[in-house]
Amino acid sequence: MTAPPIATIPFFSPDLFEQDRDVLLDLVHAVGTGPDQKFILGERTARFEGALAARTGAGDVVACSSGTSALTLILAAMGVGPGDEVVVPAFGCAPLAATVIDAGARPVFADIDPVRLTADPAAVESLVTRRTKAVLAAHMFSVMADMPAFRELARRRGVRLIEDSALAQGGTLLDRPAGRWGDAGLYSFVQVKTFGMPGEGGVVVTDDGDLAAEVRMLRNHGQDGVHRFVHHRIGHNSRFDEVMAAFQLHRLHGLDDRLARRAEISAYYSSRFAPLAERGLTAPPEGGDGRFHYVYTVLTDDRDALNAHLAAHGVTAHVYYPRPLPAQPAFAPYARSGGTWPHAESAARRNISLPLYPNLTDAQVEHIADTVCAFTDVHGGTR
Ligand SMILES: *Cc1c(COP(=O)(O)O)cnc(C)c1O
Repeated sequence: MTAPPIATIPFFSPDLFEQDRDVLLDLVHAVGTGPDQKFILGERTARFEGALAARTGAGDVVACSSGTSALTLILAAMGVGPGDEVVVPAFGCAPLAATVIDAGARPVFADIDPVRLTADPAAVESLVTRRTKAVLAAHMFSVMADMPAFRELARRRGVRLIEDSALAQGGTLLDRPAGRWGDAGLYSFVQVKTFGMPGEGGVVVTDDGDLAAEVRMLRNHGQDGVHRFVHHRIGHNSRFDEVMAAFQLHRLHGLDDRLARRAEISAYYSSRFAPLAERGLTAPPEGGDGRFHYVYTVLTDDRDALNAHLAAHGVTAHVYYPRPLPAQPAFAPYARSGGTWPHAESAARRNISLPLYPNLTDAQVEHIADTVCAFTDVHGGTR
């Protein structure tokens, strides 16, 4: 009965880049001693942008300094500013609201779909007003937002559609990649994302040539790339690092294998957790289309007890996020007074994410699943 001892399994992999250590060191040397001494926005960045455009089929890909910055640049390129409203999900990460506020506009929080845990298109539509400039749909956890509904909504109501696909790289819905559904999408490469790297970076993905040109200007102080020190717009410093561009070009070769390993682990969890639905633990919906494998998030009323049980058995889990955005001190002043977001509030109380990264071993994955199942043996069925 006693399982062999297993070291604590971290939530974030401690050695994601170990296999590529020599490549990275060589690149630091090559870029550092290169004759052109170009450390940002050089030909490696341009090649990386081209490789992602080819992979996604996007008209243009513009590299910038982070996923958050990609959102900021998209909002600025769309001309979102004071007096405008942007409808955002009530549940998700801080940049969904913070970038809108930074642009001088107002985030309007929409409740989420209780299964996908992404913004509910009907709730979003009910909040569209004359002041609405854009709708921001974000994929969270492991299920894509209902992008066909958002596209239709944006077309019908005449608003721009931003698809925050920062963490959904590799996901597809109806054969269209995450990031290709809105007027603009984005990816983040911060280490934990599906195409993470050891540093900060992101890209804007778009088929809108004018928007891409604006983003290119805005990422480098409003210069047009031809005339130096001519500033057409008030821009940002949001440039991309040449060492990271070269490293990501190298890592792109293994991306599909890593995504496949994530999918394999995710499918294993789903097979183990399917019977737990009647014991009060809800796993992500089955079905490949529109699924991606960033984290594996389950919902349970016993979230805090499950978290403690996992920790006691050497599994580090993570709660994304313990509060809805309108309940955050920073964003509460922008929320409708008296507003309620019941699905966002429920998800905040009940969500817990399990480790999901390509270099987990089969034994670790099995241990994580066993630990969750053992918890529901004790806690399930008592409701
Ligand atoms: C990670 C993330 C961001 C921010 O990306 P950074 O590169 O960390 O700035 C924005 N939106 C979503 C949905 C994310 O997951």
